[in-house]
Amino acid sequence: LTEKVMQVANKPCITPDGRAVELQLNAGLSEGVEHSSKLGALGIGLYRTEIPFMNRSCFPSEHEQTKLYKDVLSAFPKHAVTMRTLDVGGDKSLPYFPIQEDNPFLGWRGIRITLDHPEIFLVQVRAMMRANQRLGNLEIMLPMVSSVEEVDEAIRLINQAYFELKAELKADILEQLIADEKAELKAEKIAQQLVRPKIGIMLEVPSVIFQLEDLAKRVDFFSVGSNDLTQYLLAVDRNNSQVSNLYDAFHPAVLRALNNIAQESARLLVPISLCGELASAPSGALLLLAMGFDKLSMNAHNVPRIKWIIRHVQFSQAQAILAHVLTLSTVKQVHDYLNEQLEQLG
Ligand code: PEP
Ligand code: MG
Repeated sequence: LTEKVMQVANKPCITPDGRAVELQLNAGLSEGVEHSSKLGALGIGLYRTEIPFMNRSCFPSEHEQTKLYKDVLSAFPKHAVTMRTLDVGGDKSLPYFPIQEDNPFLGWRGIRITLDHPEIFLVQVRAMMRANQRLGNLEIMLPMVSSVEEVDEAIRLINQAYFELKAELKADILEQLIADEKAELKAEKIAQQLVRPKIGIMLEVPSVIFQLEDLAKRVDFFSVGSNDLTQYLLAVDRNNSQVSNLYDAFHPAVLRALNNIAQESARLLVPISLCGELASAPSGALLLLAMGFDKLSMNAHNVPRIKWIIRHVQFSQAQAILAHVLTLSTVKQVHDYLNEQLEQLG
């Protein structure tokens, strides 16, 4: 990283004409998160919990998960840490949980698996909430949501885990305060401090774009997974080299979908972020800023560069670029125009 870019690490992510956007981290291991927290990101926008599940020989216990999540939450004690519930299936498999199917990306993936196995889901969200007891900076995010019913069921399970945990905490305290005549009152007070985390969903399956209003009534935030949203909108496998020339998040249809999502979220007063690769491309970040995304989440090494760019472009200019991009009809036109604009911006 150049010195020029690193200089902005501790400065706010704001355009010269005053439009702010928060930059957050995508992460998957607890090692390195501590170091990444110094690069100027405000919290974690996507913690991929499946990654620590992948290099093991069996499911981690509730105790092991609690310890792991505590480390991640304490890397950003003053900022939100968004943990995504287990997102396996598709291209991500666990050696101890084999899945065989013809179309994995259209099959048993993400929330579909954990709702079919509530015992896995409950252990995970309980561990997350236990880990959150001291700092209270946890947010829970659900992957691969395609319907309202999935959200209702996931929230029901999270609430169940939350109330069980709270009762357990209270019972533990009561036991310790056995001779104290104000034990009941004290235990209740401490148990009240256990907060139910905010719950959000990933927008990465096209169906949810048309149900934002229904979903807004149920959750606290939305976060676009542009990697999967691109794959599903364009019907192009994100990992198939045969069709990789067709996989492009700058496709006019994807950009218009993102713009609609941002506008609709603003109207519904739901905070909107994006945690796919698009946020770490300079021209992608500019367009997302102009669309009105509140937060962009990306790998640590991209944070200083994207912040530097946002601090050097007028919001009004980004809006003008977006307005023109939304009139273009082909991917090539979009890329040519954006390259030309970025060059002019230096
Ligand atoms: C996405 O789909 O854009 C995303 C952020 O999640 P993942 O890449 O882990 O599927
Ligand atoms: Mg995804």
